[in-house]
Amino acid sequence: SASKEVSLKAIDVAVEFSGLRALDGVSLTLSPGEIVGLIGPNGSGKTTLINAITGQVPLAGGRVLLGDRQLSGLAPRDIALLGLSRSFQIVRLFNNMTVVENVEAGALAHGHGLREARARAEALLDEFGLGARADDLGGNLSYGDKRRVEIARALAADPSFLMLDEPAAGMNEAETETLLHKLSALPKDRGLGLLIIDHDMGLIMRLCDRLHVLAFGRTIAEGKAADIRNDPAVIEAYLGS
Ligand code: ADP
Repeated sequence: SASKEVSLKAIDVAVEFSGLRALDGVSLTLSPGEIVGLIGPNGSGKTTLINAITGQVPLAGGRVLLGDRQLSGLAPRDIALLGLSRSFQIVRLFNNMTVVENVEAGALAHGHGLREARARAEALLDEFGLGARADDLGGNLSYGDKRRVEIARALAADPSFLMLDEPAAGMNEAETETLLHKLSALPKDRGLGLLIIDHDMGLIMRLCDRLHVLAFGRTIAEGKAADIRNDPAVIEAYLGS
């Protein structure tokens, strides 16, 4: 994967679905070691921005750079190999594979050998408090556990940048609290940049160094969490939705 020194930059990104602009000129920088929260009302383009960065949807304008390397136009798999990992809003685990196999798959897909992939998977499961579930089938896990396995799988690829789409959705308060502590340590422990979408404002405010706020496919505010929560445009966007 890429050097952990460079930043990931979405520059003036536009995405269209059937002629409708889901994103219209959005620019966002994510640097190693920081946690950025991507927030905004439903339908404002948050998931689409992650999809645009990771190559899941084509750009109608703008570009995505990793350092000075252009990512836009590359296939999702090639972008992943350059060090970008993500989780999905709807969990995508293999239900008929064991938990450890699911996590291992993340490492194998990134060219780690079998033995190393297994060791990485086991270490990550321990780290996420899932060691005891290693041999259970993915499909038999609770919703909260599935979400944690998905994050472990994304980390198995040893990414430089991790993008999480509503990782705390469906988790109870205790699970969310544990996740918060886990996620907050990632950038320092692994030197990665973390971009996180979540509707839990308490989680976002406590976790993130910076926030980026979208409404109707445009950036309406960005900056420190404490400043953003009092921004009139942000309050308006949420109240008006
Ligand atoms: P958010 O994540 O902020 O809730 P999304 O990025 O999911 O918003 O969606 C932004 C807009 O783009 C919405 O109007 C949504 O309906 C539309 N959209 C997202 N994905 C697709 C798609 N694959 N095809 C058509 N429209 C889409």
